[in-house]
Amino acid sequence: MSTVVALILWFTVTCYAVFGGADYGAGFWDLTAGGRRRGAPARALIDHAMAPVWEANNVWLIFALVVLWTAFPRAFGAIMSTLYLPMALAAAGIVLRGCGFVFRESTRALTGRRLFGAAFALSSVVTPFFLGASFGAIASGRVLAGDSAPYSTWAWWGPTPILVGVLAVSSAAFLSAVFLVFDARRVDDTLDRAFRWRAVGSGLATGLLAIVGLFVIRGDAPFLFHGLVHDGLPFVLLSGACGGAVVVLLTQGIVRGTRALAVVAVVSVLAGWGVAQYPYLLPTSLTLEAAAGATRSLGWLVAVFLIACVTAVPALALLFVLDQRSRLQRGAAVEGEKPESRHRVVVVGGGFGGLFATRALGWSPVDVTLVDREPHHLFQPLLYQVATGILSEGEIAPSLRHILRFQENAAVLLAEVTGFDLERREVQARRPDGAAMVLPYDSLIVSAGAGMSYFGHDELAEHAPGMKTLDDALRLRRRLLQALEMAELSEDPHKQQGWLTVAIVGAGATGVEIAGQVRALALRALGTSFRRIDPAHVRVLLLDAGHEPLSAFGDRLSEIAARELGTMGVELRMGVKVTAVDGESVTFEGPGGPERIEARTVIWAAGVEASPLARLLAEASGAVCDRAGRIETRPDCTLPKHPEVFAIGDMTSLDRLPGVAEVAMQEGLHAARTIRQRVAGKPTNTRFRYRDLGSMATVGRFRAVVSLKGLRVGGLLGWLTWALVHLTFLTGFANRFATMFHWARTFLGRSRSQIAFSARFTKTRPSAPR
Ligand SMILES: Cc1cc2nc3c(=O)[nH]c(=O)nc-3n(C[C@H](O)[C@H](O)[C@H](O)COP(=O)(O)OP(=O)(O)OC[C@H]3O[C@@H](n4cnc5c(N)ncnc54)[C@H](O)[C@@H]3O)c2cc1C
Repeated sequence: MSTVVALILWFTVTCYAVFGGADYGAGFWDLTAGGRRRGAPARALIDHAMAPVWEANNVWLIFALVVLWTAFPRAFGAIMSTLYLPMALAAAGIVLRGCGFVFRESTRALTGRRLFGAAFALSSVVTPFFLGASFGAIASGRVLAGDSAPYSTWAWWGPTPILVGVLAVSSAAFLSAVFLVFDARRVDDTLDRAFRWRAVGSGLATGLLAIVGLFVIRGDAPFLFHGLVHDGLPFVLLSGACGGAVVVLLTQGIVRGTRALAVVAVVSVLAGWGVAQYPYLLPTSLTLEAAAGATRSLGWLVAVFLIACVTAVPALALLFVLDQRSRLQRGAAVEGEKPESRHRVVVVGGGFGGLFATRALGWSPVDVTLVDREPHHLFQPLLYQVATGILSEGEIAPSLRHILRFQENAAVLLAEVTGFDLERREVQARRPDGAAMVLPYDSLIVSAGAGMSYFGHDELAEHAPGMKTLDDALRLRRRLLQALEMAELSEDPHKQQGWLTVAIVGAGATGVEIAGQVRALALRALGTSFRRIDPAHVRVLLLDAGHEPLSAFGDRLSEIAARELGTMGVELRMGVKVTAVDGESVTFEGPGGPERIEARTVIWAAGVEASPLARLLAEASGAVCDRAGRIETRPDCTLPKHPEVFAIGDMTSLDRLPGVAEVAMQEGLHAARTIRQRVAGKPTNTRFRYRDLGSMATVGRFRAVVSLKGLRVGGLLGWLTWALVHLTFLTGFANRFATMFHWARTFLGRSRSQIAFSARFTKTRPSAPR
């Protein structure tokens, strides 16, 4: 029981370190923001981010103190008797800080405002220092239990407590800067950059301090040092790795995932500390067991803690969610703007480019209208998992209205865009009922994506459907399952094999991923479902005109991919050109002449062609299109003679960038940033610069190839990287959670919920076997 309560104590301390830490860190940046004028934007941002939540963070300190004095009264007595000075100074800091924060807002006189501002900022540094020093004193064995223990006012003043105090200040500053980057980037580029560099600087300083600190602790607190480099070592290393990753990502301008990594860095260091001093509460004079109060008290404490969790945690979670969505500060971002005079932005396409642009305009004084002919945003990279029954359609296609429900300056419009009048600044569209409509704009962002290309042989489309839309994926799932049913019914072994053969045209990432999953579906998920056929006989052919799969990934990864596919039983036919597909077979021209293979299911994953809207824009602006119909934009993603029109994503060709989601997202952010700066009357940094974050593809169960800034990884490590990246970019917490659940179910087990629980494919009657 004492260990359970100790875990609760650790949990509350950790929550205080994370939430309270970020809060104190904000005060540190307030203190160092610079003079009144220069520091004003940073201080306004800090106020905006902190105001709704700062008081709530102290809940965790109250939790921790109550747990400590109720469950471990002896330890509480010893701590308070020995550390009364730093604890009293920390308590005074908390009070001063609160008063300073509140009164600096409400005081009119400049001297008063400055005084309260200084009190807030200084106490934001002093408080975590004294709290950290108190922890350092406990961990280094300076607090002794027992009536005869010598209490000294200055027992806490030593190398380890001072080190931990300084570390508490620097890690609070680091956490806070990482958190503030997310708020800063919605407001302004300069602030975004400033907080990114503050995060990098404080992260490096914290890392350096931690390394130097280990030497200090070795001499000053050998027991703690031993624990940290033995049982606590994995946590210490994890903390270092996460902190390092945050620094690297932020220097590359990537902010996604950094908040979570920074939190993990802080949590792991506290876990390392807890493990290092276990089983002592006060090393090395009082163990948890000896410090614990009556078992009944502990039992009641656990019960009360659970009740408090049920009541307080959801409330805190709601507070943070509302804060993140700017629901707690009415009109803060658009203060002083008359709605009718606001800049109008029309965004065409709710794919990666359009959605990222819309969201990036969230806090700007503009009105955004997002037009799409589909009601959902589609996460195309996981389409093949819908086709092979791993995920349901909702998990990769959340509704656009739902995604943008909290973004008050954005409206979603379900309509198909049919044309543009760039001179009159109007978009022409057709509503679902067929009626025409016109959408006026001040700035226009077009990100209408691309469709399949059959390289001039559109007749192939009839029997070799592509995979671009949700309907394509669902149709493919139905076709795959129907083919197996037909094979089960068929008497003729030759025809049966035709139904059991799947040919995939194109060995890029999409083709490779489908090929691997179709084999896995047959081998693992359907292994015992049929009586007459053996799904293991499902033959998967991967055809491509190039000489290796995933040729864009480089030789080494292509080799790994070819080997993995071979192990899974996928037949590679490289250097071949498909000439005919007739519903029963596929014919291709290869080095050994023409060949025809009976295959009832053929999937086209070979080429793409830009949306027809690219040509319409080109005609209207005088821009040119390449062979794939992609419009060539200016280096800042705008059209010639129309700086107010941005074309981004798969429908454009700029610097020969690949048609991948990352390009579309970064271009969307660039367009939004340019519009924001123009609206603010600032000069715009015109040229779009792409940061290549690498490419990746799964090749089967727990196998993926990843090419990342020269680093090439295959196998399980590649798969974990792939999974992490895809979960990060998937929209919505519920979708991420459901996807993780389905992956665990599919990859650890054998079943695929979309096949086990869905009989939808039987609704369409398959054509009779010949
Ligand atoms: C099967 C598959 C797998 C992929 N895998 C990966 C991968 O692993 N990694 C990766 O980085 N990239 C991958 N991609 C590519 C990636 O999905 C695209 O690069 C990305 O979606 C491009 O974003 P976009 O905004 O340009 O277009 P899209 O995301 O395609 O969005 C275009 C939007 O415009 C809408 N639209 C089109 N025409 C109109 C119109 N006339 N009126 C109104 N709305 C319209 C569409 O409905 C759609 O919502 C994959 C693509 C596919 C098809």
